Amino acid sequence: MKLLEYESKALLELYHIPLSKSGGVISSAGQLNSALKRAGCGPWVIKAQVLAGGRGKAGGVKIAKTMVEAKQVVKAMLGMELKTHQTGGRTLVVREVLVEHAAPIDREIYLAVTMDRGKGLPVLVGCGEGGVEIEELARTKPEKILREEVDPSEGLNPFQARRLCFSMGIPADQLSIFVRTAQSLARLFLEKDASVVEINPLVLSRGKLLALDAKIVLDDNALFRHPDFAKRSDHESSPLEREAKRVGISYIGLEGNIGCLVNGAGLAMGTMDSIKLAGGDPANFLDVGGGASAAQVESAFNILLRDKKVKAVLVNIFGGIMKCDTIAEGIIKAISSLKSETQKAKRKAGFSPIVVRLEGTHVQEGRDLLTRSGLPIIQAHSLSEAAEKAVQAAKQEG
Ligand code: GDP
Ligand code: MG
Repeated sequence: MKLLEYESKALLELYHIPLSKSGGVISSAGQLNSALKRAGCGPWVIKAQVLAGGRGKAGGVKIAKTMVEAKQVVKAMLGMELKTHQTGGRTLVVREVLVEHAAPIDREIYLAVTMDRGKGLPVLVGCGEGGVEIEELARTKPEKILREEVDPSEGLNPFQARRLCFSMGIPADQLSIFVRTAQSLARLFLEKDASVVEINPLVLSRGKLLALDAKIVLDDNALFRHPDFAKRSDHESSPLEREAKRVGISYIGLEGNIGCLVNGAGLAMGTMDSIKLAGGDPANFLDVGGGASAAQVESAFNILLRDKKVKAVLVNIFGGIMKCDTIAEGIIKAISSLKSETQKAKRKAGFSPIVVRLEGTHVQEGRDLLTRSGLPIIQAHSLSEAAEKAVQAAKQEG
């Protein structure tokens, strides 16, 4: 789960990491005056709250010297569509902005804790030259990126933080605050089960350290240990992804037009690869799980067919825990009972072709059931044949 900047900063504050004076988050221009007052005297920085970095370069971070200027910035920013190098081609609508006192910057530093998967340990990463060009620097001068391993039971040792502080050329009078900040960051990472905690930039402002930006990603698998975050509304998922989560199906929407319904994550990945290999594009990743019930298959169909991009559906199921004839019954039941409004609409527009590939125990019985059902199902035997038929069907529909 990615946290927005202001949510990340609330956590940093809890761990006593120094921050600029904040006026809080606002969602309308009418709330601006009180936010500016809370942030103290100007200049102020107005920051789009979207789940992506790179906002500075895309116009999502603006400095305002006067209240009039701040109003203009907020009016332009609320509702604007932001596309940064981190939004993966998508545009995000700005619904909230954070208002803060704009700190003068002497120097920008990068500081983060993330997982080193090779070593199987968290690692503190620092760079004396932080800011918006950090990715470029990591590519061109990787030796400037410094690392300290974090012992998961002991946390970051003070000597490690001191070593990093000196290597990054941070003035000695900021040593103790830097050590505290780095140790707190590592503690936050461990205690909140984060996968990334990043401050970029951490700045020297009139000689003092301040965290100007924060990005935290929490590990979804550990959310049950953090009920406050588990309750938080989901800003990342699309409505279809939220619906899938509700009914216990792993679903991720993609850009293509072939809806996939598969049991098992590995098989789902293999199915997507096969579609690509056959010259098509999957509309989603969908794993109904190894022991999927007929009801789940039905929910999965409903999700797929509500996706307007879907021109053909490819069902690829291996009858392992469930036998193929049981699965075939589920598929038939699901297709015959697709009586929701969206389905009626789809039927009118011409039902999306459905290609089914079954394999495993009782496969012949399953195939016979599909044939006898009289439903417009295209059957396939191998995975490549199924992918080719689905790609062909989608092309004819498109
Ligand atoms: P990002 O581009 O999404 O990572 O957003 P940041 O919050 O990191 O802001 C981008 C850049 O805007 C920073 O690297 C700073 O150079 C600048 N910036 C952000 N906050 C302030 C501030 O309080 N004062 C000043 N002078 N510049 C700021
Ligand atoms: Mg930043």
